[in-house]
Amino acid sequence: MKDVVLIPGDGIGPEIVSATKRAVEATGAEICWHVREAGAAQIDQYGTPLPPDTVAAIRQYGVALKGPITTPVGKGFRSVNVVMRKDLDLYANVRPAKSRKNVPTRFENVDLVVIRENTEGLYAGIEHMIGDVAAESIKLLTRKGCQRICRFAFEYARQNNRKRVTCVHKANIMKCTDGMFLAIFREIAQEYPDITSDDMIVDAMCMRLVQVPETFDVMVMPNLYGDILSDLCAGLVGGPGLASSGNIGLDSAIFEAVHGSAPQIAGQGIANPAALMLSAGMMLRHLGMQAQALLLENAVQAAISDGTCLTADLGGSASTDQFADKVIACMDRQRELT
Ligand code: NAD
Repeated sequence: MKDVVLIPGDGIGPEIVSATKRAVEATGAEICWHVREAGAAQIDQYGTPLPPDTVAAIRQYGVALKGPITTPVGKGFRSVNVVMRKDLDLYANVRPAKSRKNVPTRFENVDLVVIRENTEGLYAGIEHMIGDVAAESIKLLTRKGCQRICRFAFEYARQNNRKRVTCVHKANIMKCTDGMFLAIFREIAQEYPDITSDDMIVDAMCMRLVQVPETFDVMVMPNLYGDILSDLCAGLVGGPGLASSGNIGLDSAIFEAVHGSAPQIAGQGIANPAALMLSAGMMLRHLGMQAQALLLENAVQAAISDGTCLTADLGGSASTDQFADKVIACMDRQRELT
């Protein structure tokens, strides 16, 4: 039995979390769920959107599955997601992007992974107004931060049978920060002679990704580029409803969909839970439950390929729960066949 903290979040969060929990349980994975809350609704009771007990539970149990949490734009509290990643030092954000049968996209055969540094760079929140004439944001990269994310990318490549790691940067302009990131990437690459390494400037990478995305494998980059490129890559393979992610640190990990709380469709039971289900697959792998992870991932793929029970974002009319039922039926079918 593995302990997992379950954070429903807000917006569409509770709906997709409940559907995903059902699908995970249908794999036979023995999980003891510890439900904890986070988000604006917690402010009245705790004075903060991130109750200390929620962070303490993730520290205690080491793994969380999380629904999206709304962040006010341009005012109000700092993103709960960013604070969690920083407090728990979840320095590596892993975001796979893979083409899937029956999902209409401009490209085929995309199978890449964006590895984003998650705690430093322009997301460190070091910014202030200079009177009312200017605003300043400081991009902070540390040698330790660059080393551990680059090493993580090569280790990930090795463990997942990937052949190539590409460093994405803007070292031609930001010679100190990105220059250090690239230099450290090249140093660490020497320790992994079995894996091809190269680098590309971020703007050139954006162009190549919308021309020949199938040629890329693992990509590692500082925080802001990772945020933007991973959404770009999600778009290449069918949009937000399918993009999964893991935020990994030395002591704990949080798995969540890349998309947000989609307030426009919250409460209607029509959100696509597939991205969170695929994130749960990553979580099961992280927990060492490889067979259950494969069962879940294959069932999500089969439910999408089948095409008869898709949610509205993928061109269908199924509800969140109907899609979950289909995934569970696909698991039963896989069991019958084996
Ligand atoms: P969003 O991802 O919530 O929505 C973008 C578009 O995709 C919308 O049209 C939405 O309806 C659709 N969409 C997203 N997920 C979907 C799903 N599962 N099924 C069907 N359609 C889906 O992005 P946004 O509107 O920029 O952000 C909304 C809120 O979410 C903001 O407050 C933002 O800060 C927050 N957010 C949270 C996280 C997180 O918790 N990790 C991540 C991103 C955004």
